[in-house]
Amino acid sequence: METNPNRCSACAEVIPDVRLMDTGKCGSCGQTRDVVDPALADLYNGFDLTPDEIWKFLPRLRSTHLDGIDRTLGWTEIGQKVNQRIRQQMADALDEQTH
Ligand SMILES: [Zn+2]
Repeated sequence: METNPNRCSACAEVIPDVRLMDTGKCGSCGQTRDVVDPALADLYNGFDLTPDEIWKFLPRLRSTHLDGIDRTLGWTEIGQKVNQRIRQQMADALDEQTH
């Protein structure tokens, strides 16, 4: 069984922004509550994506780790979504310049 990186605010090393959290199972205490995927949050942070953008446009967990409805997003899929979002940011910025 794969490890569950998700952490609730009680188990996370750093209290996460609520906009980066989604309902899932915490890999530390096993509770189902709002959890953060720290490696994913770090990746988004590295691309200067704001919590608002992440909340609106990007997956907040690679997997909820809840029974039955699980599907894990790979880093390739995450990368494609980040790429799409950054292209959209550029298109929006150009659009603002030309109007
Ligand atoms: Zn926990």
